[in-house]
Amino acid sequence: MLEASHHYFHKAAEILDLSDKLQDILLTPRRVVKVEIVTEADDGQLLHHLGFRVQHNNARGPMKGGLRYHPSVDEDHATALANLMTWKTAVVDIPYGGAKGGINVDVAKRSNAELQSITREFVSQIKEVIGPTQDIPAPDMNTNASTMGWIMDEYSKYYGFSPAVVTGKPLELFGSPGREEATGRGVMYTLEEALKDQGKTLKGQRVAVQGFGNVGSNAARLIAEQGASIVAVADHIGGVANTDGLDVAALIEHMNANHTVDGFSGGDAFDKDAIITWDADVLIPAAIEDVIHKDNAGEIQATIIVEGANGPTTPEADDILLERGIVVVPDILANAGGVTVSYFEWAQNMQHYRWELERVNGELAKIMRRSYAAVRDIAQEKNVDLRTAAFVLAIRRVGAAALARRHVSEDIRF
Ligand code: NAD
Repeated sequence: MLEASHHYFHKAAEILDLSDKLQDILLTPRRVVKVEIVTEADDGQLLHHLGFRVQHNNARGPMKGGLRYHPSVDEDHATALANLMTWKTAVVDIPYGGAKGGINVDVAKRSNAELQSITREFVSQIKEVIGPTQDIPAPDMNTNASTMGWIMDEYSKYYGFSPAVVTGKPLELFGSPGREEATGRGVMYTLEEALKDQGKTLKGQRVAVQGFGNVGSNAARLIAEQGASIVAVADHIGGVANTDGLDVAALIEHMNANHTVDGFSGGDAFDKDAIITWDADVLIPAAIEDVIHKDNAGEIQATIIVEGANGPTTPEADDILLERGIVVVPDILANAGGVTVSYFEWAQNMQHYRWELERVNGELAKIMRRSYAAVRDIAQEKNVDLRTAAFVLAIRRVGAAALARRHVSEDIRF
């Protein structure tokens, strides 16, 4: 994944004619933290894990990014995702840099109490390098509002009441209304804008969605509310399809009860991997990485892909899609709704003030539509695809801020 994000970076850096030195400066993480986490299991045995926090860039503000709990978490993975966060926050022009981290823990094997003590030990080890003006973690895979509550509580023991140290908190701990569905909502806004460029609206669009968790289920629900048909959905177990459009509310109910879309009676079952090449107008990958690759990109039937997930498309597949004229709204734009509402949450916490849901959704819509337009304009001006344009925009903003902070005498123009 690190390779893919570097590939896209270099493609845009070439257009900007950046020197090798500046490319190195912009790609190198500012700080990489790796800590040992030793805690006690419920049965008194010792537990041993590694925790990571990669702080990629803070030229435009405190660093921001999720914490993932998964056995695959390591330095490379966190570095790739931290890079993406720097570009994502710059694309939507919120005053943050990028970071990412996590713990190599298998949550299925640990009780809630064990996860809480692992989290608290992690915070006690990284507390000096995070904070409301330094680095603000958020939920990612297998972490949620409760995890953020533990982090806020642990951090506040050392530094006093500090809700702004994390976002994605429960509402009763000063989380923001609208945060839960923000990424899916942002996916809907960017899809709407991409359709508008083709003289279309959401009405009547046939949409296939991979992943029915936070991003996929909220995107599907909101898009269906605007008159599109969700014709197929797949998750890690199976897929379900209905040419007349799935009843998304009923599917969400089924999913909440069974933790999968598999077995839903309102559609026909199919093998989960067939979702990528489904007969649909729009494909929304909202699950995991590298699902659109060189072996299936040629068979994709959708003409617009909106990347709800981070890194769902490999560089080889990206080239194939470009050649085939399929429009890809890239992850660093399409799924930036989550971090944008995280920013609103942080802003509310810093001001000890609460916004109404309407204000949150209104500001989110403004930022997502404006960001899409900025990316689309660069794509037209430079005659490149939306992903390259998004990287050009992000690198320009981060690079210009980095240079402006240092009185650099080199003649570099962004
Ligand atoms: P989630 O854990 O809530 O849901 C993940 C979904 O993906 C589940 O439905 C799961 O069954 C499905 N899935 C897993 N493996 C699969 C496979 N092999 N095939 C098909 N489906 C599979 O996660 P989420 O928060 O919805 O995040 C999904 C993606 O969006 C991730 O890439 C994440 O990094 C990205 N993202 C999330 C947010 C956010 O605010 N939650 C923000 C930006 C990006």
